Amino acid sequence: MSKVVCVLYDDPVDGYPKSYPRDGLPKIEKYPDGQTLPTPKAIDFAPGALLGSVSGELGLRKYLESQGHKFVVTSDKDGPDSRFERELADAEIVISQPFWPAYLTAERIAKAKNLKLAVTAGIGSDHVDLQAAMDRGMTVAEVTYCNSISVSEHVVMMILGLVRNYIPSYQWVVKGGWNIADCAARSYDLEGMHVGTVAAGRIGLAVLRRLKPFEVKLHYTDRHRLPAEVERELNLTWHPNAEAMVKVCDVVTINAPLHPETENLFNETLIAKMKRGAYLINTARGKICNRDAVARALETGQLAGYAGDVWFPQPAPKDHPWRTMPHHGMTPHISGTSLSAQTRYAAGVREILECWFEKRPIRNEYLIVSGGKLAGTGAHSYSAGNATSGSEEAAKFKTKA
Ligand code: NDP
Repeated sequence: MSKVVCVLYDDPVDGYPKSYPRDGLPKIEKYPDGQTLPTPKAIDFAPGALLGSVSGELGLRKYLESQGHKFVVTSDKDGPDSRFERELADAEIVISQPFWPAYLTAERIAKAKNLKLAVTAGIGSDHVDLQAAMDRGMTVAEVTYCNSISVSEHVVMMILGLVRNYIPSYQWVVKGGWNIADCAARSYDLEGMHVGTVAAGRIGLAVLRRLKPFEVKLHYTDRHRLPAEVERELNLTWHPNAEAMVKVCDVVTINAPLHPETENLFNETLIAKMKRGAYLINTARGKICNRDAVARALETGQLAGYAGDVWFPQPAPKDHPWRTMPHHGMTPHISGTSLSAQTRYAAGVREILECWFEKRPIRNEYLIVSGGKLAGTGAHSYSAGNATSGSEEAAKFKTKA
């Protein structure tokens, strides 16, 4: 018998949904690179249901309890008195989501003597101290590709939202106005602009592909170069680093994981090298951008707009400056948790758990840490080290008005 602790975000304020706007989901056969969607032996949920909140339980309760395991689900994750911290003491498996991350710091890993497996229901395992996980010999796995396309759609939406000044224009309508000049004074066409992505992995490449029909000039920087035929097909310009790329771009989108190499990459110095009036979109991780440098750049006009859905810590404190800075288009961390994505990552978590309990190997592409080192996708896309420092600040969301 194993104890599985699962940290999920709260149900909607009006209660768990009794119905949904649409019936079912389109059938996706394969991811763009040919990788298959999750293949658990069975699922116990209806595709399209809200699975990522506490009552949704990722659709796992029936399966886990039928195997004799103890399954604890909570949203209470921050601070030493939280349910998560208490339940962690004898947990073997922790499941968490980047949207509402249960930060697994070195201190928490040290206290959790039985902890062997951390599963990310989504993509991005930076909420786990990967160095501590390697030192302990834990396995860290995530559901690679489950929401990469979901995020790429969000990125395109946010680029268009900022460049065309959508949100303030919408707000004029809600306020009863007809203020065309107020709306138009910050509104441009995307056509002809230079758009660059920091990282051209699953999300970055999907963003580039989706932007191609907009007749923009596409740029990227990545540690590994894309195949020459992809560069030709999309007419891409590769840059050896972010600094070289941002100098020539009107729009920059960040699609790299958070790890020691990317933490604080967009600091005051790098932002100062961007074109005046550039737009920055970050749906990767909040800590890749320096919080105060972004807010200042929007105030001075160095950036014309900033949008994204990732913050640090999460949930962001109520006084986080990104909530109130000018010309932003922030959302809470939602791009990878559409109902469509939830179906895929819930099935992926089930697949990982089935493999774990049946002592079958977890797919290599799902692995981040295994056998004391970075493995699978982790070995390709991350660098060793820890990016969780400061995560205890997340407890402020509960305590500060
Ligand atoms: P991938 O692993 O497919 O792509 C990551 C890419 O980042 C790889 O191509 C990797 O390069 C590149 N990279 C890593 N470090 C650097 C660096 N220092 N400079 C330039 N490029 C770098 O992952 P996805 O595209 O699926 O996801 C990317 C990230 O997006 C996730 O790690 C997560 O943080 C975030 N995300 C956010 C979501 C949301 O809801 N907002 C949901 C899903 C993901 P290479 O492998 O070539 O070395």
